[in-house]
Amino acid sequence: MTVEVCQLTQLHEPACTAPAVVSVRDQHGGEKWGCEVHAAAALTAVEGARVGAVHDWDAMSRLLELPWNTR
Ligand SMILES: [Zn+2]
Repeated sequence: MTVEVCQLTQLHEPACTAPAVVSVRDQHGGEKWGCEVHAAAALTAVEGARVGAVHDWDAMSRLLELPWNTR
């Protein structure tokens, strides 16, 4: 499923209207689309989180440079 707007905001944050660039999957098979900023935050904060699908490969290449990818 493709979603156009970021769904990865935290509960304390206002809704994010940035375009979704990647989907992030958790260990339980849940999948949410997010903008680059929130995808980076989720990948860093959620143990076992991985990128599911990609809309924007430029954003993906930047996300792959973050520490979550090497732990
Ligand atoms: Zn966002």
